[in-house]
Amino acid sequence: VKASGVSGFAFFQDEMVREARERDRLQRDLSAAIGTEALFPVYQPIVCLKTGGIRGFEALARWSHPDLGSVPPDRFIPVAEDSGLIAGLTDQILRRACEDARNWPEPIGLSVNISPVLLRDEGLAERILTIVQDTGLALYRLELEITENAIVRDFEAAKDVLGALREAGIRIALDDFGTGATSLFHLRSFRFDVIKIDRSFIDRMTREQESAAIVRALLGLGKGLGLEIVAEGVEDRAQKLALQQEGCTDGQGYFFSRPVAFDETVRLLRGKHDW
Ligand code: C2E
Ligand code: CA
Ligand code: CA
Ligand code: CA
Repeated sequence: VKASGVSGFAFFQDEMVREARERDRLQRDLSAAIGTEALFPVYQPIVCLKTGGIRGFEALARWSHPDLGSVPPDRFIPVAEDSGLIAGLTDQILRRACEDARNWPEPIGLSVNISPVLLRDEGLAERILTIVQDTGLALYRLELEITENAIVRDFEAAKDVLGALREAGIRIALDDFGTGATSLFHLRSFRFDVIKIDRSFIDRMTREQESAAIVRALLGLGKGLGLEIVAEGVEDRAQKLALQQEGCTDGQGYFFSRPVAFDETVRLLRGKHDW
């Protein structure tokens, strides 16, 4: 509905005030949640398409709000980024996830999302290394996922921080690959270990020629550069089979498992799977 005239403007203003209040509240409540059990990671398996084995888990932040229930990360991560709360939030998720990951058998890996805004902070590499070493998780078992848009905005700073982390033995993954405008430039300028093909391509690949062709090209690119490739958002067997056929190394998505609590990861690692 297109609002018009004076009443339309008043409506628009009300709406803006409402949104600002809501954001303020989320920010206040999030600030209180940091450091408590209300904020915790769940884990989604990343599956080797050749063997069907679980090669690692991606940690995904969850927030259970006392009144609002479970708030999705797409709502609270932006609030954390805009308010500076993201540093504390990331420390907490990283620490807790590393502690959990220590209980998985070698060489099961852990992937953690690192927000773009943190890459501007020169102390980031040091802070991450301290946390991981505190928990005793071997550095090579940790992978940090960075969205490519992140890297665009402040490329030189990002390159230094990521370089230092990679030097220390931590793996770096380029997340949501294919959604940014300058993907190819980044692949030439920084040495990644993994690229994660964005869910939007996988979603359409078995229905649409163009998406299938793009996925094939991305897989060829990854192969040529000697990178591991994770297909995100694999939801059915047809997608898995197509990816397998095209030589994709790993898959992640609801077809294999939804994100689960730590206890469930232990069961997933012990179980037999027909995926
Ligand atoms: P992402 O890093 O791209 O994570 C993958 C998202 O896709 C997750 O959503 C996951 O639950 C969802 N997903 C996985 N498989 C499927 C599938 O087969 N179909 C569909 N439709 N979705 C699938 P989630 O957990 O809601 O997280 C959303 C985003 O929030 C993440 O996208 C990431 O950008 C951000 N995020 C989550 N946790 C953290 C965190 O600890 N730190 C930071 N900086 N960002 C985080
Ligand atoms: Ca991710
Ligand atoms: Ca992603
Ligand atoms: Ca995403």
